[in-house]
Amino acid sequence: MVMEGAAGRSARSAVVVGGGVGGLSTAIRLKLSGQFDRVRILEKNDRLGGRVKTLMLESSTSSSSVYRFDTGPSLLLFPEEYMRTFEELGCELPEMKPVGSVGYRCFFNRGGPRRPGEGSSATRRGEGQPPDTLDLLLEDDEMAAQLESVEEGAGEAYSRMIRAARTALEVGNGAFIDRNFATLAEFVNPLRFLPLLPRLVDGGILNPLSLLRPLDGWLRGYFRDPRIRALFTFQTLYVGLSPYTAPSAFSLLAATELTDGVYYPAGGFGEVALALEARAKQVGVEVELAAEVEAVTTSSRGWVSGVRTKGGRGHDASVVVVNADLPWAQRNIAGLGEKGKTEVRGGGPDDSRGYSAGIVEFCWGVRGDDLQALQQHNVFLSSKSSKSFEESWTRPGSKGGDLPEDANFYIHVPSKTDPTAVSGPGPLHSVMVLFPVANKAELQAGVEYADLVEWSRDLILRRLKEVGVDLEGKIEVEAVTDPDAWESEYNLQNGAAFGLAHGLDQLGWFRPRNKDESRCGVYYVGASTHPGNGVPLVFKSARLVCERILEDLGPSANEM
Ligand SMILES: Cc1cc2nc3c(=O)[nH]c(=O)nc-3n(C[C@H](O)[C@H](O)[C@H](O)COP(=O)(O)OP(=O)(O)OC[C@H]3O[C@@H](n4cnc5c(N)ncnc54)[C@H](O)[C@@H]3O)c2cc1C
Repeated sequence: MVMEGAAGRSARSAVVVGGGVGGLSTAIRLKLSGQFDRVRILEKNDRLGGRVKTLMLESSTSSSSVYRFDTGPSLLLFPEEYMRTFEELGCELPEMKPVGSVGYRCFFNRGGPRRPGEGSSATRRGEGQPPDTLDLLLEDDEMAAQLESVEEGAGEAYSRMIRAARTALEVGNGAFIDRNFATLAEFVNPLRFLPLLPRLVDGGILNPLSLLRPLDGWLRGYFRDPRIRALFTFQTLYVGLSPYTAPSAFSLLAATELTDGVYYPAGGFGEVALALEARAKQVGVEVELAAEVEAVTTSSRGWVSGVRTKGGRGHDASVVVVNADLPWAQRNIAGLGEKGKTEVRGGGPDDSRGYSAGIVEFCWGVRGDDLQALQQHNVFLSSKSSKSFEESWTRPGSKGGDLPEDANFYIHVPSKTDPTAVSGPGPLHSVMVLFPVANKAELQAGVEYADLVEWSRDLILRRLKEVGVDLEGKIEVEAVTDPDAWESEYNLQNGAAFGLAHGLDQLGWFRPRNKDESRCGVYYVGASTHPGNGVPLVFKSARLVCERILEDLGPSANEM
């Protein structure tokens, strides 16, 4: 329960380094706990929200057209977590609009993959729908019928698969995601898992260890056609993995989309950050913008004493919560570092952690209505007969690889369902493309992001034209963000837009923890600590770090 008001105890103050959704929700929780007289957010940029950002672009040719883009999140998943968080924070949740019956449309390169013994010939379905597409249909019957038209028996396999994936989601959330771990022994304790077995078996997961198998391999137990498997696996992009390395427990991503639905905040994702910002100010959180923290300071007793911002100004604090990307912060903020390891400064090859992809993002203001083939959310998957799906997950620009003929990417067209995404005499559309490439640690020597931007723009426009969306001469205005820009705008290590990857070695206990074990009073919140990336997980991260802080403060602290 969250309580307002200070209890009788000595004055405490907290500084939150960074005002992303993780920092904002942590600051509100700390203030509401009544345990802190002062809670301050120090944010390096001149606005709050971090990666949750709205970009408005005006056409350079006709000033009357204005386009709105979500440059960060565009998919509102795990709606229950939003409702829970906003209720706990005492804040009104912006309206969540379901995107309709099609969660995403998946476009496969013409010809489709042809591995010996698998897949049927490319299916042509439905009038007016381009060939080689599959839709993530949110109605079970429609989805089953669609899959059955591609592969005999796939409709029935779908109900079994989704039951198992939903079970993985529910069991995994309680056992691994939505809780802190005090010790490794607690994390791996077999006694913890015994009570879960009946639930797993009931959900069709007879062998719990199968949840550690690579996701694509696990799905082969249900579907032969690689396009169907791709429809339920491309989501691993968000956690920095490919379907061939992500554990099958990540079937939970497709499970939440298919069973909880895919939503979009009315007015754009920026509304989520604005609601948090308003609540933070309402409860008395102080905010300082353009305040980049360069050091965490400690007292002679070894307890944190505050932070120092660029320019040398000190800010006293008895608790410091770092919302800046954890691996970046541990390398670049003086006074932080990993326990048991020498502090590592700057970038460099000595970082053995796994990172998510670099992202080249295009925001295009488009005049014209030739986008009928697209839905609000679209995924383009490269799968030519000459290449396997697996190869297509190699990040373009990576060391040791040539640039591929085709690649995977995602397109968001909010103007398909939200008329407020554009204004001016139409038809107008705002189109945002996320194109995964090598992050800065993986980038091949001699390859420049500027070259990858040109190459990927051509590739995207060509693929769009192939499915009947010809944007030539129709892009009125463009903004591009490459991994260098992600890094400099948000201090994201290696320019990896989704932070640390979520391989088995970086999950649960093995993900960098939310408490700095070697510095009393220093904690972490956000996408690169426990439990992981994505707005709903970052909301959980804020809840978990506050639980930990209040636990450390002792029994007098209110329950969050
Ligand atoms: C392109 C893209 C698409 C995405 N799509 C989705 C999606 O569809 N759905 C979804 O749920 N999630 C999505 N995500 C992930 C989601 O945006 C993040 O997981 C989440 O916003 C991270 O929040 P955070 O608070 O952990 O970090 P951030 O938003 O990065 O906030 C950290 C803040 O710290 C500040 N900072 C850094 N260093 C310092 C310093 N030294 N001093 C002071 N301040 C500092 C930064 O400026 C930033 O404001 C997407 C992310 C990206 C990049």
